[in-house]
This record gives sequence, C-alpha cells and structure tokens, in this order.
Amino acid sequence: DLHPVRRALLSVSDKTGLIELGKALADRGVELLSTGGSAKALRDAGLMVKDVAEITGFPEMMDGRVKTLHPMVHGGLLALRDKDSHVQAMTDHGIGAIDLLVVNLYPFEETVAKGADYDTCIENIDIGGPAMIRAASKNHLFVNVVVDVQDYDALLAELDANDGQTSYGFRQKLAQTAYARTAAYDAAVSTWMAGALALEAPRRRAVAGEVKQTLRYGENSHQKAVFYTDGTNRPGVATAVQLQGKELSYNNINDTDAAYELVAEFDPADTAAVAIIKHANPCGVARGATLVDAYQKAFDCDRTSAFGGIVALNQPLDADTAAKIVEIFTEVVIAPGASDEAKAIFAAKKNLRLLLTDGLPDPRKPIVAYKQVAGGMLVQDKDVGYIGMDDLKVVTEKAPTEEQMQDLLFAWKVAKHVKSNAIVYVRDNATVGVGAGQMSRLDSANVAASKAQRMANELGLPDSLAKGSAVASDAFFPFADGLLEAAAAGATCVIQPGGSMRDDEVIKAANDAGLAMVFTGMRHFRH
Ligand code: 5GP
Repeated sequence: DLHPVRRALLSVSDKTGLIELGKALADRGVELLSTGGSAKALRDAGLMVKDVAEITGFPEMMDGRVKTLHPMVHGGLLALRDKDSHVQAMTDHGIGAIDLLVVNLYPFEETVAKGADYDTCIENIDIGGPAMIRAASKNHLFVNVVVDVQDYDALLAELDANDGQTSYGFRQKLAQTAYARTAAYDAAVSTWMAGALALEAPRRRAVAGEVKQTLRYGENSHQKAVFYTDGTNRPGVATAVQLQGKELSYNNINDTDAAYELVAEFDPADTAAVAIIKHANPCGVARGATLVDAYQKAFDCDRTSAFGGIVALNQPLDADTAAKIVEIFTEVVIAPGASDEAKAIFAAKKNLRLLLTDGLPDPRKPIVAYKQVAGGMLVQDKDVGYIGMDDLKVVTEKAPTEEQMQDLLFAWKVAKHVKSNAIVYVRDNATVGVGAGQMSRLDSANVAASKAQRMANELGLPDSLAKGSAVASDAFFPFADGLLEAAAAGATCVIQPGGSMRDDEVIKAANDAGLAMVFTGMRHFRH
C-alpha cells in the first residue's frame, strides 16, 4: 500500500513554510506544480516549478475564481492508477498524475473576523481549493492531501521513513482531516451567511471544530473526551495559554469557562472582581477595591467549597492576590495576564494551573449555543441579556437605597451564572449565600440561607451573613414563600424578573416584610 510521490501541486494562501516544503520536496525528486502567487514565491526562492496555467492551457481568470478547475488538474487528482480505463483516459488526454496536493484556503474565517463587508467576504470564498481537496481526499488510495501547515513535517517524515513513498494509513488520515477542513470551511460560510441575512431559523446548520487537546477522559473516567476550538479565536478558556500545572481535565475546562464568563460580567476598568467556581456554580463572587480584596471577599462566602476550586479574575493577577490564592489548594486560576512577581509566586506551586488570556470573554457578544438531546440538537442564542439601573422597576412601597441598588445589580449578574433555580444573597458587593440547581425556588432560598448561616458560624459572627443582604432570584417567585424565606434569612431587598400570576401576592408579602423589591422584566434560567 506504499505509493511514491513524484508530482505535487502546491496552492496556498498562507505561505508559511511553503519554501521549506518546496525545497524539501524538490530535494526528494518531486516535480512541483503551482498556482500564481505560490508559484512566484517558489520561483523567487530559486525552485523549479511549473505553472498550472501551463498545464491547463488556460490563464488564471476572473480574479482568480478560476485557476485550477480543469480536467488536467482534477483528472490528475482523481484517476485510479490501477484501473485500465482511467490510465487510458490519462494517456488519451495527456493528463499527468498528481500524487500530492498541498492546499490551504482563502482566509474566509479571518476575513469575517476582521468585520469585512459582504462582498469582500464573498470574494474570500475559495472554490478551486476545496474542489481539489475533495478530489484528492476521495482518491486517497493513491493521493496525499495536506491542508495544514503543521502537517508539512509529518509528510516529510513519512516520505523519509518509506523511501519517498507514503502508506495507505497515512493517506487515509490526511483525507479525514482534509474533509473536516472543507466541512469547517463551508460551515463557516453558512454560519456567516445565516448571520449576514439575519436568518432566525436556518433550515440547515453546520458545526465545525479543530482539536485543541485530547483529554484523558470526560466528565467521568469511563467517558472519552476531546477539546475542540471553534475557529473564532475568542478570548476565553479555549484560547488561553497555560503557564504551569498539570493538563486540564474536562471538568476543569468546563468550570474554568463558567468562572471566566461570570467574572467577565464585571468591567475591569470599573472594578476588580473574582469568581470562585465549583461544579460550574459560583461558591463565591466579589468586587473589591483591589483584586486581593475581591478574592478575600469571594473566599469568605463559602470557604469550605472554595477548596479545590477554580478562580477567575477580571484583571491581571498581581503578587498580593497570588500570595493569597496559594494559601489554599486551588485547581485552576485564569486571568487576563499576570505580573512577573505573581508568576514567580505561583511557580512554587507546581500543581496549580495558571491560564492567561489576552482579554476577557465578551459577555455581550451574540453567539450561538448548542445542546444535544436524543436524536437532535437544540440551538439558541447565548444568554447575553443585560439589565442596567434604568431597566429596573420598583414595585414596593420602599425603594432600594443606592447601596442596595448596587448589591441588587451585583446579585443579578451572579444569578445569571448560577444553575436554576438560582437564589443569590449579596452584601457589600460580595455573595454571602448561593443556592443553585434545586428543583424548587424555596429549596434554593433555603440552601443559600443555610450557607450564609454556616459561614457566619465559622467566622464566629453573631448574625447570618445574609442579614441586611440583597437577594436575587433568576426567575419570578411563583408564590410568596420563597421571598418570605429570603426575608427570614435577613434579606432587605429583592431583585427578580416579576411576571408571576401571583405578583400581587408576592409584592404584598414584600411590603408586609418591609422589603424593597425591583423587577427586571428579564429571566436568566440556566440549566
Ligand atoms: P496563489 O497565491 O497560489 O495564487 O493562490 C492560492 C490559493 O488559490 C489557494 O488558497 C487555493 O486554495 C486557491 N485556489 C486554487 N485554485 C483555485 C480556483 O480555481 N478558484 C479559486 N477561487 N481559488 C483557487
């Protein structure tokens, strides 16, 4: 199943490594064919190369839309070398076999990412490239197809290991990668078009991914798992650089994402903020005058759960915060940068994973979110809903004070990132009790209250941490009981969407309990 590589066609937009590859192939006696820009680059480097236009007898035309779309090229890629009729057709028409295709495509994804206009995006849809890739991939029985610069070395290693030939298994893997590339390319085009045309429910959808890391296992040790990037290069866990510590696990990645997306709700220009996450839910979130102050307050919300947690910062890690974090065992820290001093402090903790990014995930960026169900996939806009001071409606006799208003909005931002049913108590810009994922709102209110009480006991305080707190509920209180539970725990003001059939009853209960309450008009379910 070994086949020699005698003739190669190189046609690349990203010319990284092209010259080196061309030289290496020429050194191994491979004849080079190429298209306009690629041919020029190779020739300028002193290599012998034949233009595709010379073989097809047609010049590149229509702004490059038609370069390689010709039987002389596609016949050379698709012909079965061991089938008489195919060999005869090659002889009859003077078609030379092409054993290796090296193509990378017009940078469509990058063009979209740059915010180019519609026509420019259209012009950057590669046609001949994908056509050749698909032809070469189909004929992997004989033909090699390379679509990633990072595979050039592997190709040369394979040729050297097999005396200028490649194995069938090698070509099969190249073909699988190549089909995923053209699929991803068209997925990017159709996703972009769905957005450009503002289609609410595209009849068909394509999703693509590129491997970032093979994981040791998934959520549990009997599940296999892989981490893929989606090609958008958005700041976040998928594009973070890991400075130290063991490889990230599936759960680490999931929790780190939850932590970073939560803390990104707080504008770093406005305030320092820290989120500590366990099992994708926050066990402490706080704003502070400094990062270390915010960390301490977040930690004090639930010290027990914070152990072995994931910590996300909205500002670059500084030495003070680093020194505080290493006092307990933490799995992962993610931040938009770190000072040298902070890095040095972490370096002493070999197991602590430090992830750094160039910026924060954008919590307002509209993207599409997927969830698998048996036999299908649910697709929705990500929850990028935002509530500001002006969106709130005071519904009680008492209106919140300015300080209460701050805590209410803080609690609301956190509640958006807590699994439903979510109840969040906040005091002085820090969570003091988080109730997550319960099947009744009343239970979540209870869980959060008991945490606030337990932490007060731990700190030796006379009152529950929830005393004088602001409370957020991610969805409306269907009955007054959840609200009364919060009031009993010490909450003095409430933020919730409103919209229940029994709003009147709930508002009356709030007035009777002397609470101030605001409605957001927006719900933040998260399941
Ligand atoms: P070059 O820089 O060599 O002139 O162009 C290389 C690029 O052209 C590659 O990205 C390749 O995929 C693309 N390409 C090759 N043939 C065709 C074609 O027939 N039509 C279009 N639109 N692009 C092509």
